[in-house]
Amino acid sequence: MWMSGATAGPDYTELETVTTNYRMAAEDLGLPDDLRTVLAQPYREVTAQVPVRMDGGGLRVFTAYRVQHSGALGPFKGGLRFHPMVDLDEVRALAAAMTWKTALVDLPFGGGKGGVTLVRRDHSDAELQRASRGVMRALQKVLGPQRDIMAPDMGTGPAEMAWLMDEYARLVGHAPAIVTGKPEALGGTCGRVEATGLGVAITAREAAREMGLDVAGARVVVQGFGNVGSHAAEFLADLGARVVAVSDVDGGVYHPEGLDLPELLRRCRAGITGHHGMDVERITNEEMLALPCEILVPAAVGGVLHAGNADRVRARLIVEGANTPTTPGADVVFAERGVTVVPDILANAGGVIVSYFEWVQNLQNVRWTRRKVDDELRERLTRAFGIIHRRSLHDSVSLRDAAHRVAVERVAAALRLRGFDLF
Ligand code: GLU
Repeated sequence: MWMSGATAGPDYTELETVTTNYRMAAEDLGLPDDLRTVLAQPYREVTAQVPVRMDGGGLRVFTAYRVQHSGALGPFKGGLRFHPMVDLDEVRALAAAMTWKTALVDLPFGGGKGGVTLVRRDHSDAELQRASRGVMRALQKVLGPQRDIMAPDMGTGPAEMAWLMDEYARLVGHAPAIVTGKPEALGGTCGRVEATGLGVAITAREAAREMGLDVAGARVVVQGFGNVGSHAAEFLADLGARVVAVSDVDGGVYHPEGLDLPELLRRCRAGITGHHGMDVERITNEEMLALPCEILVPAAVGGVLHAGNADRVRARLIVEGANTPTTPGADVVFAERGVTVVPDILANAGGVIVSYFEWVQNLQNVRWTRRKVDDELRERLTRAFGIIHRRSLHDSVSLRDAAHRVAVERVAAALRLRGFDLF
């Protein structure tokens, strides 16, 4: 799905972007043809009908997708998205990205993704609850705490996870590890809501250090002020960065000296729209990407940085809070111009890492402290960044190429050891 209002369309779809990144790694690694073919497509795709009774009495039929890309390293893992533009190709792309993401940060999971074509703000909580329960009923046979574990993604959060968990309990029996990202009162972990944003800030700091860029005082632009973008902005500000612009689907606000972030967060979390009384300049999402800054965090939808606009980006460092925000066409431009990109499969992996912590806690019936969650998250991300950074220096390639090489290598090794060739 693409940002509305973009001046030129992206040069690659999300599926083409993910596939191209995989193919380049497979090629560079000299992966044999049979392995390459297995990993080029999803293991299983489910498209299901979800009939939902509306509050007014009428019936709407939604389409739910669940794509399980690779289970070589463990149960499939990945979010469930509620978004009007969701289609099977997008879910295929995001499922494959989850395979590489979980492998890269060394989690015992494969990759999966789900999506429902649904406009969240058009529905009441009761309708969203019925839709979530319908999704669980439709997909239950391919899910399970040791088979496929869903989690929040765009348009879903702890409430949906609670309903999914409850519906699974009714169908199969109580098993909190069936989904992650649950409310803490239902076995969710502390730190999950903030995890992706915190991961963005951690990887931004690691990359900045390698570039000799000081995060303290750096100007940051955050495109997308949802769960990922708002927390990333907050954690980067904690590191001393100056957040000069943020945006949501309706456009952005800019202040060259730095925004009043606490006030923006307060309004956003209170559901207040508009920026009445604030000293800010209104800008479009496309203008945001071209603002003078050191760090750009695309944290909204896919395909926002493409061959048609990459030239206008003035940041030195791009940290991908969103999934697939950068097309391979834009990557070429960034490589030529010496712009460092921390790829999505590392930069936004904080969410699935803490999901893994939640799954472990559920299986062991224990609770971790916030300090343990944050420390373990920091340690895993820092270690993964180090491995990728060293690989990028060794192979003289971008962080994205290095990340894909490491991830594809690990998944391919697991498939080989499992004896995939004699299936
Ligand atoms: N939806 C998130 C992602 O794209 C999190 C997935 C999870 O926690 O399983 O990484």
